[in-house]
Amino acid sequence: MKPAPFEYFAPTTIGETLARLSEHGYEAKALAGGQSLIPMMNFRLAQPSVIVDINRVTELSYIRANEDGGLSIGAMARHNQVEHHPLIAERAPLIYEAMPHIGTVQVRNRGTFGGSIAHADPSAELAAVSVALEGSFLLRNHQNERWVPAEDFFVGLFASALEPDELLIEAKFPQLPARTGCAVVELSRRPHDFALVGVAVVLTLDNDDRCQNARLVFLSVGDGPVVAHQAGEMLKNQIFTQESMRKAAETAAQLDIDPGSDIHASAEFRRHLAKILAFRALEKAYGRAKGEV
Ligand code: FAD
Repeated sequence: MKPAPFEYFAPTTIGETLARLSEHGYEAKALAGGQSLIPMMNFRLAQPSVIVDINRVTELSYIRANEDGGLSIGAMARHNQVEHHPLIAERAPLIYEAMPHIGTVQVRNRGTFGGSIAHADPSAELAAVSVALEGSFLLRNHQNERWVPAEDFFVGLFASALEPDELLIEAKFPQLPARTGCAVVELSRRPHDFALVGVAVVLTLDNDDRCQNARLVFLSVGDGPVVAHQAGEMLKNQIFTQESMRKAAETAAQLDIDPGSDIHASAEFRRHLAKILAFRALEKAYGRAKGEV
């Protein structure tokens, strides 16, 4: 299939891009790495009449340290740039661990951080990881800008808080507290496939090795990233044992998520996977928080 006809613009600045998006509204789509948009256009699942190609907007392509100890990632940072940047490994080990799970090297050479977030695929690792890390996104139109917490950004299946005239500019992540461990664990049928189920965990220990905070965020079990609030609450102030982690994983799989069935997996199988993967992720994250792994 070939895409429906469209008008093509290739701005070189954010200002010019925002002017185009404002002019064309719902008719327009930003083109980032094209790894999701182009196939959708070829299948005519998307038929924008205007494409605003942001690949020449170099001011959107950065990874930088913030003074508060966190970091910012510009929307046009390519996946492979994020994957290999030393700051990511140092300040956002969860993102670092997630990157190789995203498609193939070829996909990561073109795909962008911002494209992955804006696309709001419920199977996207970066969506779940951004929610787990309590990140936030900077959205801008030709008049205003606003910060949206990652947890509020994903509002449904392939749906986000982005308005048609808004551009995602940046993702920002706070510094991780001391004694924090992270892990992302997933299962897919073949290497590089989208995950059948995945989970990102961020947990912090207090000085007595009790759980100060635990966030478990699943991918591929709902319309967007799903936060396992009940499992997180169960773990608070508890000592991590095999038993407490198993119970939390069970709660997450039975009470916090409501996965659907599709051609890839039944709901029942997804719950089963969720329980096992959550346990493994908790175990890994706990070990890392204690500095053991
Ligand atoms: P594009 O395809 O260019 O755009 C996607 C959408 O986001 C479009 O609607 C576009 O208008 C919008 N958009 C892009 N940038 C902005 C912006 N700055 N502001 C506002 N809107 C914007 N992803 C995973 O997470 N996990 C996987 O395992 C995985 N496997 C893949 C396997 C294959 C074979 C392929 C082809 C893709 C896979 N992907 C996977 C998707 C990949 O991560 C894409 O890079 C990502 O979904 C979209 O990023 P992109 O830069 O290509 O965006």
